[in-house]
Amino acid sequence: QIGVNRSTVVQAFAELRSLGIIESRSGSGTRVSQFKWGASPKHTPNWNRYAQGGSFLPNLPFLRRIREALSQDPSLVDFASGELAADLAPTSEISEIMSSHQYASYLGYDNPQGYIPLRQALVRYLAEYRGLQATESSILITSGSQQSLFLITQCLLSPGDAVAIEDPSYYYSLPMFQSAGLRIFRLPVDQDGMRLEEIRGLYKKHRIKMIFTNPNFQNPTGTLLADERRHQLLQTASELGLPIIEDDPYSLTDYEGLPRMPLKSIDTSGSVIYIGSFSKIAASGLRIGWMVAPNSVVLRLADARQQMDFGLSVIPQQVAAQFLESDFFEPHLSRLRTNLMYKRDLLIEALRKELPGEIQFHIPKGGHHLWCKLSEPVNDAKLLEAAIRNGVVFVPGSVYGSDAGFVRFTFARAKSECIGQGIAGFARALHSLRN
Ligand code: PMP
Repeated sequence: QIGVNRSTVVQAFAELRSLGIIESRSGSGTRVSQFKWGASPKHTPNWNRYAQGGSFLPNLPFLRRIREALSQDPSLVDFASGELAADLAPTSEISEIMSSHQYASYLGYDNPQGYIPLRQALVRYLAEYRGLQATESSILITSGSQQSLFLITQCLLSPGDAVAIEDPSYYYSLPMFQSAGLRIFRLPVDQDGMRLEEIRGLYKKHRIKMIFTNPNFQNPTGTLLADERRHQLLQTASELGLPIIEDDPYSLTDYEGLPRMPLKSIDTSGSVIYIGSFSKIAASGLRIGWMVAPNSVVLRLADARQQMDFGLSVIPQQVAAQFLESDFFEPHLSRLRTNLMYKRDLLIEALRKELPGEIQFHIPKGGHHLWCKLSEPVNDAKLLEAAIRNGVVFVPGSVYGSDAGFVRFTFARAKSECIGQGIAGFARALHSLRN
């Protein structure tokens, strides 16, 4: 007897129906269609084949599984999504801004480089908060840092080009680089950020064309690139004429109130393209990001956006400009830092209570993530499934290309009152695999 999965049968029937080979009528079942000789046959395109076409690789299966689990059971404690919880986002401030401004004044296409008042607000923001001297013409507004990275990989690089990235590094960047046909070389991250020893060798041997780094409270490790390495990285880049892409969504979330300035603020040779975002400090749903780059690059990318989407909708750009310029911004930031630090501490306390001696980590001084090493590695897929059964999701380290036994917990998303319960569920899941 050969077992056939029920969903395979249902899918086969759906395909035969779409090809016109069978017909189903409610009440009278399914039967083979009567072909009329002489009538032209129906040919439905093979949509499944088309759906596997194009140049985009699918996202990693673990990430799809986490998304699916969260959509099936919203009560799961979410240590996986890299987003602020609703109570950390400036919800009431944004509502107040939206109700007190007119948005109907301009509902046409805008400049694909970005809404000018937002670029002007960012010039002031970057000077005041990030130590960067940008101009309106050196800023491109994007739909989040994700789009900045996408535009760079698609427009400034070509398939076959080699790039260096951090290991581990942000997981949605990996399929994006692979989809663009880039050859990826990894530079290990230790507790002082990315290690630099191999850069010259990679340049000589593989002609790497760019270095991507997330130097402030790196996703996933939470590390800060040490000062000495910052200078060394810039020095190497300028000697080799090698561009650095600085992805910097987290630097304003430092808990100690110390200014963590971007690499770009000490870049005297013009090696760095700087990428910022509203997502990790305010609202990911507004989809506002920005890039500071040489004018030739900004114009090239803005021109490409004309082909992609004619630029971002003006409305979120207006909201973002008004929020940045409002009296709400500064108090929001300091509240955010305090709350993130509180959540980090709750997470650490829960891990120490539930898993003493079974998990190791360095305590991050900012950002959204805690990167942990299990003292005894277990199978990532089994651990994730067991965690889901115990009411919690996290991101397994193998998503980042790490060996089994690493775990990323994001503490920005889960409600404070659920953090302890979530870690208790994770501990039960881990112990269930060991027993
Ligand atoms: N870069 C890094 C390092 C990130 O962590 C994220 C979000 N997780 C992004 C880019 C993309 O963020 P967004 O497009 O929302 O700005």
